[in-house]
Amino acid sequence: MPSTALPTTDDLRARALTALERIGVTVPEGTGLPARTPITGENLLGLTASTACDADQALAATRAAFLTWRTTPAPRRGELVRRLGESLREHKSDLADLVTIEAGKIRSEALGEVQEMIDICEFAVGLSRQLYGRTIASERPGHRLAETWHPLGVAGVISAFNFPAAVWSWNTAIALVCGDTVVWKPSELTPLISLACAHLLARAAEETGAPRDVHRLLLGDRTIGETLVDDPRVALVSATGSTRMGREVGPRVAARFGRSLLELGGNNAAVVAPSADLDLAVQGIVFAAAGTAGQRCTTLRRLIVHRDIADGLVERLAAAYRKLPIGDPFDGTTLVGPLISTAALDGMRDALARARAQGGEILAGGDRRLADTAPHAAYVEPAVVRVAEQTGVVREETFAPILYVLTYDTLDQAIALHNDVPQGLSSSIFTRDQREAEIFLSAEGSDCGIANVNIGTSGAEIGGAFGGEKETGGGRESGSDAWRAYMRRATNTVNYSSRLSLAQNVSFP
Ligand code: NAD
Repeated sequence: MPSTALPTTDDLRARALTALERIGVTVPEGTGLPARTPITGENLLGLTASTACDADQALAATRAAFLTWRTTPAPRRGELVRRLGESLREHKSDLADLVTIEAGKIRSEALGEVQEMIDICEFAVGLSRQLYGRTIASERPGHRLAETWHPLGVAGVISAFNFPAAVWSWNTAIALVCGDTVVWKPSELTPLISLACAHLLARAAEETGAPRDVHRLLLGDRTIGETLVDDPRVALVSATGSTRMGREVGPRVAARFGRSLLELGGNNAAVVAPSADLDLAVQGIVFAAAGTAGQRCTTLRRLIVHRDIADGLVERLAAAYRKLPIGDPFDGTTLVGPLISTAALDGMRDALARARAQGGEILAGGDRRLADTAPHAAYVEPAVVRVAEQTGVVREETFAPILYVLTYDTLDQAIALHNDVPQGLSSSIFTRDQREAEIFLSAEGSDCGIANVNIGTSGAEIGGAFGGEKETGGGRESGSDAWRAYMRRATNTVNYSSRLSLAQNVSFP
């Protein structure tokens, strides 16, 4: 497909400034931290990174605000999040513009990201009246045994570039109704959307009478993130990003006995069984593997196909890949926008070279696009690569659109291949055989935090708990009972009799 023409950096700067102005943000001009767009690969504005002193002040302020916020009734805390959700809805289009400009997402995915923020706010408002503890049958007469849930403290949220706003909202909306205050360190690659979100939350706090310091934003790279990791005032570090980052953050938080919630890399696979509805499978696979230019943690990276249908399916995929419109993410016909940087492009090229050296055959894609018009940007054709074995590069997460295709003969083999990678985020099976589907979802099936049937690996709803196992970090965010990570549990024993009876019949006269 022909690539579309790109907007200029000046156009994009003007569009970003208009969106920010409509949202009400005055951008503080500075140096040292550029706001950049992957659409042209050029800088839009200069900002200033936060300092260690800013971080110290932010932590002192959010800690002080916590002391008031924790005793504010949860449904009233929900009022703040309700107001935030309303303003996100009001500014949906402008926020989506900023997501496209800074992360390069196509328009419908950028709008989808903002919708996800609105959805989690609505979920959190409902949750603010449902922070249930249990009453447990006591073994002693005249006693009540119960558990209560209390706010935890300051939550430090560190987020990645690829969901620059939604990941913040999953954490922040839930943390706020749980009675925590939040310090956010977004990706250094997406400061403008972060300023916009922080501004809308500050305004919601003002309008609902919540403490001004329920939330603070710190801009900058990993060094500013490290201040959150190491500071004992941060009760919970919720960090989303690469496994490399999690490997550094997890042990440091643990060393001070802090709590961490890690949402790290994935190497997600789908099994395609002989009975699969192939029309549906092709659609699901192409969206999951090439959508967001392969830059979702849940992107489909490995396809495990039954040998009898592999050749036909691969041909259909390669044909679909060749038709993917690549280019300007603001153009309504584009399905694949840019990679975040030329470094990501180098990573993709390196992975393809390694796959080839391992005997892999590139069946479609892999070439750079638009290098003449946008030499600093990184547009690529999503690639399909057939490999004989799951070794080397196939076991790694390359944050780019590469789909490795492997074949299997028995379901046991497919599941073994599926689980034999270090990551454990998202998975799926395409089958019309109920027995196969249930085995895949069972204890002996997929070992991931997300396991789907007849739908791809990406695009989760906020109602379920989101996260994965093994090198994905084990954390769960968003819906279901993920809120518990943001609170502390107390077990309460109340003796309402006039006798002291000890547990386990212990006698101590
Ligand atoms: P990254 O690891 O480079 O950065 C993520 C964030 O961590 C950034 O804000 C960065 O500044 C910060 N950071 C990095 N090292 C740090 C350190 N030592 N201490 C404190 N902070 C540190 O990731 P990225 O390139 O922005 O995002 C892509 C990665 O994120 C992929 O691996 C993707 O799978 C993963 N991701 C996972 C999820 C999930 O929910 N599991 C969601 C989105 C992205």
